[in-house]
Amino acid sequence: MYCEKKEECGLFGIFGDPEAVQKTYFGLFSLQHRGQESAGIASSDGESIQCYTGMGTVGRVFRTGSGILEKLANPIAIGHVRYSTMGSSKIENSQPFFVEYSRGQVAMAHNGNLINAGLLRDEYEAYGSIFKSTTDTEIIAHLLAKPSHMSKPDPLAHVLNHLQGSYCLLFLFNDRIEAARDPYGVRPLCIGQTENGHYMVASESCAIDTLGGKFIREVEPGEIVTLDKHGISSRFFVTPGVVTPAHCIFEHIYFAKQNSFIFGENVHEFRKKLGRKLAQENPAEADVVIPVPDSGTSAAIGFSQQSGIPFDMGLVRSHYVGRTFISPSQKLRELQVKLKLAVVKEVVKDRRVVVVDDSIVRGTTTKGKIMAIRQAGAKEIHMRVSCPPLRHPCFYGVDFPTREELVAHNKTLEQIKEFLGVESVGYMSLEGLLSCAVLPADHYCTACWCGKYKIPVDTAVNKFSLERYQLHMFDKWEQINE
Ligand code: SF4
Repeated sequence: MYCEKKEECGLFGIFGDPEAVQKTYFGLFSLQHRGQESAGIASSDGESIQCYTGMGTVGRVFRTGSGILEKLANPIAIGHVRYSTMGSSKIENSQPFFVEYSRGQVAMAHNGNLINAGLLRDEYEAYGSIFKSTTDTEIIAHLLAKPSHMSKPDPLAHVLNHLQGSYCLLFLFNDRIEAARDPYGVRPLCIGQTENGHYMVASESCAIDTLGGKFIREVEPGEIVTLDKHGISSRFFVTPGVVTPAHCIFEHIYFAKQNSFIFGENVHEFRKKLGRKLAQENPAEADVVIPVPDSGTSAAIGFSQQSGIPFDMGLVRSHYVGRTFISPSQKLRELQVKLKLAVVKEVVKDRRVVVVDDSIVRGTTTKGKIMAIRQAGAKEIHMRVSCPPLRHPCFYGVDFPTREELVAHNKTLEQIKEFLGVESVGYMSLEGLLSCAVLPADHYCTACWCGKYKIPVDTAVNKFSLERYQLHMFDKWEQINE
C-alpha cells in the first residue's frame, strides 16, 4: 500500500524453547507493522544454524503447508521483518543475514541504519572484499571476520565500536543470541520471558505480550545482552551514561504499536497525551473529532478528551489491502488510497470536523483524504497534526522523501492550509511534543523537525557514501511514486 513514511524493521529472538521457531513466527507477526517487504528466521540446535528468508509478509514467506517452520525447528531462533531503508528490496537483502567465517557461523538481524556503512564498505572493497548484498548489515559480517578484530578479548564489542548510526542487532551464534543496541538507543529493543522461563528479545514489547510473556526491561543504549544456557547476562561496549540518548520520538508518534512499551512508557498513553496537548495548543470549534487510523487514533481520543468534542470513526481502514509499491497511474494510486481508507458519510456529513493525524509528510495523501471527507459532505475541516512540521531528512533509518518533497519544507502554515484545502491547520509544537514525554527532552532525537543531528552525519559519512545514501532514497521514492 502506498504510504508516505515507512517503518524500518522488526527483530525477535528466543533462547532454549522447544517451540522457539513457532514462537518467533508469532513474534514476527506482531511486529509486521515494522516491515512487510521480507521476513526470515534463523535457528540453531546448538551446533549449526539454519536460515530461511523470503520476500513478502510473514504469512506469505512461512505459508501454512510449506513445511518451512518444521524444517527450521530448533530451540534457539531469531527472526526479522524488513522494510528497506538501505539497500533495495530484493531477496539478497532479506534477513537474518547468514554467513560462515573462520570462527563458525552467525546469522544477523538489524533494525536501523549505519551511516558509516558506505565508508566502511569502500575500505573493505578497496582491499578486495566481495559483498553479496547492498545492505549496510553485511559490513558487520566483514568486521566480525577480520582477523585483527577476532583476536580482541571481546570481538563483538570491538566491532560495535566501529559502527555509527542507529542499530539494534541480534546475532545468532551456534550456542547463543547476542542482542545489542547502539549507544544512542535510537530504536527500541526489549527483553522478556515466556511462562516457562525462556528469555526473549524483541523490537517492541507487543511481541512479548502476544506470546503471553512477561516484559522484563528495555535493552540499555550501548548494552549487549547475551541469551544462553546460563540465562541472560549483560555487558556494555561503551561506558554507560557517557552518551546522551537520542531515542527516535517518531517511534512513539507513528511507528510503534499502541500496546507496546518503549522508551519508558506505553505508546497509546503517550499518543493520548499528544492529543490533549494538541487540543490545548490548537483548539478548534467543531462537532466531531475523527482520527486518521490507525496511528492517529490515540491522539484523536486525547484531543476529544481535552476539547470535549465527541470522538467518532469517520474514516475506516481496510486491513486487507496489501502493499502495492508500483502503480501505473495517479488514478490507480488514488483508488488504492480509497480502498485503504473509506469515509463514513454519516459521521461527517453537514458537520464541522476535526481530523487528527500523526504527521504530514508530502501532503498528497493527506490532501486525498481531505477531499474524500469534503465529498462526503463535511461542512468544515480542521486538520490537526500531533507532531511539528517535518522539514529535514532522517539518516537513522526512516524512509522519508527528500527534503524538497516534504510539504512543510518551503511552505508557510497558510500555504499548507491552502494546499490541503482545509479551514484550518494546526501542528503540535516541538516543545509541546517533548513536554509529553517521560524522559528529559534532550534524551530524544528530533532531527527531522529541528535539523539537529545528534549522531554526527557529516563526520561519519564521507561524501561518497552520503551521495550513495541520498541516491538510494531518491531511487526509492521514484520507485514508490512511479
Ligand atoms: S530524524 Fe526523526 S525519524 Fe529519524 S530518528 Fe530522528 S526523530 Fe526519528
